[in-house]
Amino acid sequence: MGHKTFERGIHPSYYKELTSGKGVVTAALPKVVTIPLQQHAGAPCEPLVKKGDIVQEGQKIGDIKAFVSAPVHSSINGKVKDIELAQHPGGARVLAVVIEGDGTTREWKAEGTVDLNSQSPESIRELVRDAGIVGMGGAAFPTSVKLAPPKGKAIDAIILNGCECEPYLTADHRIMVEESEKVVWGLRALMRATGATKGFIGIEENKPDAIEALKKSIGLSDVQIIILEAKYPQGAEKMLIKAALNRKVPPGKLPLDVGVVVNNVGTAAAIYEALVYKKPLIERIVTISGNGVRDPRNLRVRIGTSFEEVINQCGGLTGEGEKEVLNGGPMMGIAQSSLTAPVIKGTSGITVIDAGAIKPEGYDPCIKCASCVHACPMGLMPYRLGDYGKAKMLDNFKGWDAGACIECGCCSYVCPAKRPLLQWIRVGKYFVRKEAQRASSK
Ligand code: SF4
Ligand code: SF4
Repeated sequence: MGHKTFERGIHPSYYKELTSGKGVVTAALPKVVTIPLQQHAGAPCEPLVKKGDIVQEGQKIGDIKAFVSAPVHSSINGKVKDIELAQHPGGARVLAVVIEGDGTTREWKAEGTVDLNSQSPESIRELVRDAGIVGMGGAAFPTSVKLAPPKGKAIDAIILNGCECEPYLTADHRIMVEESEKVVWGLRALMRATGATKGFIGIEENKPDAIEALKKSIGLSDVQIIILEAKYPQGAEKMLIKAALNRKVPPGKLPLDVGVVVNNVGTAAAIYEALVYKKPLIERIVTISGNGVRDPRNLRVRIGTSFEEVINQCGGLTGEGEKEVLNGGPMMGIAQSSLTAPVIKGTSGITVIDAGAIKPEGYDPCIKCASCVHACPMGLMPYRLGDYGKAKMLDNFKGWDAGACIECGCCSYVCPAKRPLLQWIRVGKYFVRKEAQRASSK
């Protein structure tokens, strides 16, 4: 019998072997870090420091009282050089704290043992918020908010997302192999914080060493590993919940509406470090891979280190040709216009690919082959959404359920006419958001 999965989706080439067998290496201490005050979904932080202030590694340097938010911390010891607009890997320019390092580091280690049963759910949520923890799979939604469901919504299951279905990326794979005990402990902390009685780790079949490591760390306990088919986008929340628990999140609803909270495995390891080491989220594991980088590898990188510095620690770019540098993997990653952008909490990977390989010269008319329809995991009509988004025909665009699109890119990937469907859908969504903003400001 095959492994569990969801309907439709695609099987792209994964190229995971470039880094999956290589242990994580700690990147060199950066001389300067640029730490954006917005690294999460929700309200941006306000700076808590000013130019000239001396800051310590782990010190909170930005926060805001808004419910959907997470503080940011200095990732190095040093001095605030400036607070200025800087390039964000999401594309915009945002306010950031620039810190010049003094070359020293701080040691983070366990401050005694932590008995989860003696911690109240509220205290775990507070510690998670205080440590600035957000979803580390890319979405960067503040974790403490996920752990505080509205009244009347009970959570009975936590699923850790260990699918990592994006091609090239192996940061989560290495965390599961090298830090499996932290991952399992973090999952139990999440269960304690929400009152969930069931804990699962969803992982694709193509990571046998990670499955073995997790099995050893779990032992005989309440936590269950669910092995899933390697298929894209298996790691999308709705696909994962359907495959793992056979629960369907209705359109417009959230996982908590079906009693589930999904967190990334890296987030669980960060929760362990926050509760046991009292260490905020100031560094993360990043996969640097692709045919455009000389020595693909996984590095433990301080938040705020520039893409350029990280790529240089992987031997730099290959050859002479034009490169496409993506924040994330090739399916959902965001192309970078400048390598000055810093690694942020949600940077799971930096993919560097020869531009010629992924930038089609143009596209052809739609031949109505329906390949995009058969690939769409959300059961949408991507060829229509693409046309309406491109033409800014917003009523039609919304009418064909554009809001349900999870922007996985399966449709663009399979289209024989090379039509950039996801790009057009994103254009449509952008104008729908603008329209809603205009309506709410009237
Ligand atoms: S329409 Fe959206 S959800 Fe469907 S395949 Fe395209 S990007 Fe994915
Ligand atoms: S896959 Fe491309 S060519 Fe085929 S129906 Fe969809 S948009 Fe048209």
